Amino acid sequence: MPIIRSALAACVAATSSTPLLAQSPTLAPPRGSSVVPVAPGVFVILHPRATDNFPNGNSMVVVGDDGVLVVDTGYLPSVAREDIAWIKTLTPKPVRYVVNTHWHYDHNNGNADYRKAFPGVEIVAHRETQRLIALNSARYAAGVVVEGSGSRKTLEAYRTQLTSDTSLTPVERDTVRARIAQREREMEEMGTLAVEPPTRTFDRELNLRLGGRQIRLLHLARGNTPGDVVVWLPAEQVVAVGDLLVHPIPYAYNSIPHEWVAFLRGVDSLGARTIVPGHGPVFRDPAYLRQVTGLLESVVNHVFAGYRAGQTVDQVRAGFDFGPWRDRFAGTNDFLRRVFDGSIVTALVDRAFLAAGGGL
Ligand SMILES: [Zn+2]
Repeated sequence: MPIIRSALAACVAATSSTPLLAQSPTLAPPRGSSVVPVAPGVFVILHPRATDNFPNGNSMVVVGDDGVLVVDTGYLPSVAREDIAWIKTLTPKPVRYVVNTHWHYDHNNGNADYRKAFPGVEIVAHRETQRLIALNSARYAAGVVVEGSGSRKTLEAYRTQLTSDTSLTPVERDTVRARIAQREREMEEMGTLAVEPPTRTFDRELNLRLGGRQIRLLHLARGNTPGDVVVWLPAEQVVAVGDLLVHPIPYAYNSIPHEWVAFLRGVDSLGARTIVPGHGPVFRDPAYLRQVTGLLESVVNHVFAGYRAGQTVDQVRAGFDFGPWRDRFAGTNDFLRRVFDGSIVTALVDRAFLAAGGGL
């Protein structure tokens, strides 16, 4: 089984212009990550992937006069610990707030390490995000490590491949070794995961202050999940949007497509100069935001019209020309084209069809 050739991890390009960091040798980024300064005292941490099938979401660090706010805490707790160590080199001020943009594990498994390092920290999220983390996270982590789990089988398959596949080139062997190391680390960290759900919740909007810095948390609609929150810094014109934006392919599984479009339009109307996605590079203009909005809106309008006309979900799917959109998002990369088909052609259409029938 040529696992190594079956799926190349989605490659996330990082914009890595770091003039502020270059001025200070003490500000080397957290190990394995890169840091993008986006405004005075505001930094985005672009993390390495956790495994070949699980990423760590981006984090954003906002340093205020009297404390620090961190948006999202990654998938592997060890990544959160690296970030915490880096924040401590940045400032002696404590992290007062952690914001979870949504409930998915790659954005909040590190919460407990922030609590440990900064006992007074408030972990802030939408009410639904708190509920879903409390409901799902411990069960998920246990499912990774349990005997016979998919993760264990994949790890065993990599080990078998390394010992018995004589066709591997030296470079491929190194890749398999690296994947084994990542999976072993994941297994260890999920086996000891401490789940720390948010401690402060809201429904629509919450305004926080860090000294003179204003931070607005907004839930404009449901979108990628039931409790998405964006973090808007009006003075700096920076917005962190979690997985409402994932680059290079939007993540539509279990989304609420028609509300997602409305949420993205609301984000666009903020007029941010810097947009921080949940995965992918920092954006300095709204082009990708508008590209995603355009795709989602086109699909939602088409699906709703087809539903009203009495078509089946498969008829609706067959009647939409995904080709130009697939080319635009995935180019000629076969792996990304498959990701697009799974997330957009299958999941997004299914979800929009459910929504059209009032089922979401
Ligand atoms: Zn994510």
